[in-house]
Amino acid sequence: QANATALSFAEHGSPERVLRLQHTDLPATLGDHEVRIHLLAAPINPSDINTIEGKYPIAPELPGVPGHEGVGEVEAVGSKVTRMRPGDRVVPIEHGQGTWRTHGVFNELHWYKIPKDIPLGTAATMVINLPTAVKLLSDFVQLAEGDTLVQSGASSHVGRLVIQLAKSRGINTINLIRDRPERAEQERELRSLGATLVTTAAECRQALQAAGLPKPKLGLDCVSSASLQRDSAAACAKVLAPGGTLVVYGAMSQQPLTVPPGLLIFNDIRIRGFWLTGGFAKMKDGWRAKEQLVDHVCALFRTKVIRPVDVECLPLEQWEKALQRVASDDRTGKVLLTS
Ligand code: NDP
Repeated sequence: QANATALSFAEHGSPERVLRLQHTDLPATLGDHEVRIHLLAAPINPSDINTIEGKYPIAPELPGVPGHEGVGEVEAVGSKVTRMRPGDRVVPIEHGQGTWRTHGVFNELHWYKIPKDIPLGTAATMVINLPTAVKLLSDFVQLAEGDTLVQSGASSHVGRLVIQLAKSRGINTINLIRDRPERAEQERELRSLGATLVTTAAECRQALQAAGLPKPKLGLDCVSSASLQRDSAAACAKVLAPGGTLVVYGAMSQQPLTVPPGLLIFNDIRIRGFWLTGGFAKMKDGWRAKEQLVDHVCALFRTKVIRPVDVECLPLEQWEKALQRVASDDRTGKVLLTS
């Protein structure tokens, strides 16, 4: 038997209120296709918070363990396991594995082996945000060198990855961030990743004109926000080229999406939604597509298209502090729960 510790929730609500740290014993023997994994690190993503709050379409059976993403090391394998061996590094390719724990027993088919030399922060965040950034740039509009895209929430992990991927393809990025005391520092950071222009929703139109960039064919919005001065989705839509596409993939402001109807009527703007997990679930052999994306992401890292992900690591036991770091204004990297 091996002792395990997990964060668990028995009802939906704010994470601070409903999460509990629990100690459990793992089964002494493994089923034929089971693997015992030591979870090394798992990020706290917005979708994890939404899952715990009960605002995400997928949730574990309660009581359950949150965490859709992470990286682990295989400790033991069942008699018929062929995909991995003890000592291998693995990432979850099936959602909802419950990665906020120290150890767990899983079905081998739900995990995928990755090279051991991928840095911890990148390995722990490679099955959701990296594939999302790749697909946002490839699934909606065919962008060529010299084209432009505009995105809100540019300081997010996804936003930073979009900047790096676009830069590697010679695509200009107009990046909207919040107007806060950290603005200058954030602007410097995003420029160092390859951002063409960093501005705010309120200043976006003027900044684009001043920069003399072509109008964006693609807009990416993960903020929404029905506020007059900081309406990120509308700011993206307003600068799109006629016939341009706005892809909505998140709603960090938790506010409704407001886009002036004239943009649809007179500019023929298209609005689409994107959900990585839902897209894979609908595909026949979606797991295989996900494995291929993970391989692709490893290659992007190896060819230095993507820099190692900045992370702040906190032990699982300090989960309350970790949640505070996620919400703090001075956070720059992903917060990882480690064990
Ligand atoms: P991060 O935790 O790295 O970053 C959060 C971002 O949201 C930061 O840019 C932050 O801005 C911004 N933000 C937070 N609160 C607000 C607010 N109230 N108003 C405006 N902006 C706010 O996020 P991720 O990169 O992990 O995820 C980004 C988005 O992408 C999320 O909405 C997530 O749900 C979505 N996503 C969607 C997927 C899909 O399949 N649809 C897959 C992966 C991610 P600041 O820096 O100023 O604090």
